[in-house]
Amino acid sequence: MLKNKKGLVFGIANNHSIAWGISKELAKNNAEIAIGYQNEILLKRVKPLSEEINSKILIECDFNNSNSINNAVSRIKEEWGTIDFIIHAVAFADKTELNGRYIDTTKDNFINCLDISCFSLTSLAKAFEPIMNNGGSILTLTFYGSNKVIPNYNLMGVAKAALETSVKYLSVDLGANNIRVNAISAGPMRTIAGAAINNAREVFKFTEKHSALKRNAKLDEIGKSALYFISDLSSAVTGEVHYVDCGYNITGMPNNN
Ligand code: NAD
Repeated sequence: MLKNKKGLVFGIANNHSIAWGISKELAKNNAEIAIGYQNEILLKRVKPLSEEINSKILIECDFNNSNSINNAVSRIKEEWGTIDFIIHAVAFADKTELNGRYIDTTKDNFINCLDISCFSLTSLAKAFEPIMNNGGSILTLTFYGSNKVIPNYNLMGVAKAALETSVKYLSVDLGANNIRVNAISAGPMRTIAGAAINNAREVFKFTEKHSALKRNAKLDEIGKSALYFISDLSSAVTGEVHYVDCGYNITGMPNNN
């Protein structure tokens, strides 16, 4: 389904990462994938995974470093000339504040969290626009805590709300070039980022019990939904936040019968 499509994936930390689930599915459908990894420490885990999907381009890219996105653009330009898709599966907040009251968020953490978890998408979209092909697709990852209060999600919920609104504005900006921008709102997953939220296990159990399908989504299911957004199957879809959460978000009140 993705023959001749080339794209860059950000956010693989290990084989539980949502970005990895997506990469595997895209590679299975013949996409050529380059990987943007955060730092040297993660490279040890990312390298063997890259070999599994035959990914030849590995680019160190820490969004804290202002040059790293431009370096990634230069490298992709050099290797491929143009690009068809970008997966943005990156978020960061100080773990000590993913706990307790939102009101206690510090300004430094607020700025850094919004920078890494939200503004990085806008930076990527702007930097890659000149080399993105007509029909291109950008996909980010969000969570229901952007809409409704989830215990301990706190600042990350605010960042995801900003991210989801960025998706809408970016989709209009890039729509003129026939580049689409969408978000998948994934149900809770057992990843490093997921575990950073205090009491994540409770959220996982609660959504499993109260989602329409009575379970949580699996990594390959997020991957398959991503395939839809990256492929031409979704060629008329942009600016959307699409829930892949086994129907948890439509529950107004859990039915305990
Ligand atoms: P993960 O820990 O596997 O991935 C997070 C990634 O963000 C890591 O690869 C990390 O290297 C990267 N990252 C953090 N700071 C960075 C920086 N400064 N520069 C570059 N990269 C940086 O966890 P995940 O759950 O796969 O998270 C991927 C995305 O999915 C995140 O946006 C997360 O908020 C979102 N999401 C997660 C869940 C969940 O329950 N796990 C649910 C919905 C959405």
